[in-house]
Amino acid sequence: MRTNLPAAEALRLILEAVAPLPPETAASADALGRVLAEPVVSGRTLPPADVSAMDGYAVRAADVAGAGAARPVELPVDFEVAAGDRDGRALAPGAAARIFTGAAVPPGADTVVRQEDTEAVGSHVRIRVAAPRGEHVRPAGEDVRAGERVLEAGSRLGPGALGLLASIGRSVVAVRQRPRVAILSGGDELVEPDGDPDGGRIVSSNSYSIAAQCREAGAEPLYLGIARDAPEDLEQRMRGGLASHVLVSSAGVSVGDRDYVRAVLEKLGCEIVFWGVRVKPGFPLVFARFGAGSRGPLVFGLPGNPVSAMVTFEEFVRPALRKLAGHRVWFRPRVEAVLGEPLRKAIGRLHLVRVRLERSGGSIVATPTGSQSSGVLRSMALAQGLLVFPAGADALPAGAAVSVQVLDDDFLAAADPGL
Ligand code: AMP
Ligand code: MG
Repeated sequence: MRTNLPAAEALRLILEAVAPLPPETAASADALGRVLAEPVVSGRTLPPADVSAMDGYAVRAADVAGAGAARPVELPVDFEVAAGDRDGRALAPGAAARIFTGAAVPPGADTVVRQEDTEAVGSHVRIRVAAPRGEHVRPAGEDVRAGERVLEAGSRLGPGALGLLASIGRSVVAVRQRPRVAILSGGDELVEPDGDPDGGRIVSSNSYSIAAQCREAGAEPLYLGIARDAPEDLEQRMRGGLASHVLVSSAGVSVGDRDYVRAVLEKLGCEIVFWGVRVKPGFPLVFARFGAGSRGPLVFGLPGNPVSAMVTFEEFVRPALRKLAGHRVWFRPRVEAVLGEPLRKAIGRLHLVRVRLERSGGSIVATPTGSQSSGVLRSMALAQGLLVFPAGADALPAGAAVSVQVLDDDFLAAADPGL
């Protein structure tokens, strides 16, 4: 077991232990946000034929070559083609066909003249413009050709990709399984939110924040409840999480007499990869895994303090979940910001400072969200980002350039439409 690791090294060991989960099939209609596990090759050409992009008249460009406002060309309208018509009737030279958007351009025609550039005169149409060949025609295969690869394995399915899958007739696709995460809280002092907090008991808020962090990361939480500070109870509940991909417990990982998590993990046959990361909040973080060839879950023993649990989840569990789910990028967006007030700390541990973010002039100002105590959950509830205060630094003056991991999507959202 390694200990007292730099944060980056701990993260490296975690990601090294994680491989994307196997694929499963999913209905495309339910696959929003999932990660494709296969490249998708289209079996269809789209559009399947040359189709009209306008309501108007299908013609041969050569027949309207001399047309102009002062010298319209008049052609007989032989027939009509609407979207979905499939009789394939050919257009004779010197004639026009009435056509509507999305309808197949009849054989023989090569151009569509917009209705706005024409005038219907009885059974004829007067055309007032010369149209270059191919005008207002969407050629077959403009979007997709049969045999063409349209989506890569590893891409995240957004609305556009799901529409594309539908358009090529793929109602089922192979996607990476979604990580299933078993969540366990531990501590004799803990009660559920509707429990009785008398006698110094506290609500197990970690179960809620961690389950929400799992969902936000695209994973499925499974709650194992609160284990008492007793090895037997901890072990029994942990066994309930062994079929999950990941087991996340909080509390009981420090050096107290009643911190049994590491001992129980070892009893269950886990290898503790590391304990203790030079990060604040979150030093006592444990990462463990079952032996090679075993199908047991990856195990994260997070510290119990509510902020420590959330921050270590952000930094160490979330990237692992993203990698498990098959994503190609695993980390939060980062912005360069200007520090709003000075910060100090001892050299040695990397600090993740909860900050509010504000745009000011051309820059982003990051200001701590009040007390940075790891028990002050409000600092996390208000945080729009985590400021990285490097391990080797002891002071950052107001105005210093800092790097911030952005937690709040709304901060990156624009306040104006940009149109
Ligand atoms: P421990 O790691 O067991 O020493 O716990 C550290 C601190 O975190 C203690 O003050 C615990 O009461 C608190 N704590 C532990 N588990 C939870 C939880 N599930 N929800 C909220 N606070 C917790
Ligand atoms: Mg405890």
